[in-house]
Amino acid sequence: MADKREVDIAKAFGREFVKGNVPEINELRCMACRNCVNLCKKLGPNVLEIDDGVAKVARPEDCIGDGACMTACPTRAIFIMSSHNPEDPPDAP
Ligand code: SF4
Repeated sequence: MADKREVDIAKAFGREFVKGNVPEINELRCMACRNCVNLCKKLGPNVLEIDDGVAKVARPEDCIGDGACMTACPTRAIFIMSSHNPEDPPDAP
């Protein structure tokens, strides 16, 4: 879970993501370009995969919450990071 400093930094940049959070992916906006998948893999965490034509969080336990995937997405399909709860996945707007 994020410490106070990480939360403060995230807020200072106007971002909602902090360590322990994972990307929410809007399946309607995703065009499966793989930008987020490739960037996350290149940076190390390798959290995302294309599954059934959309990007999905395949390895949430490896997410460092930096939000790099958000910056890579051309359609803004990823625009928020939230706590991962496998029992109750978030509904992407
Ligand atoms: S960068 Fe955006 S559009 Fe491309 S695969 Fe990832 S979520 Fe989908």
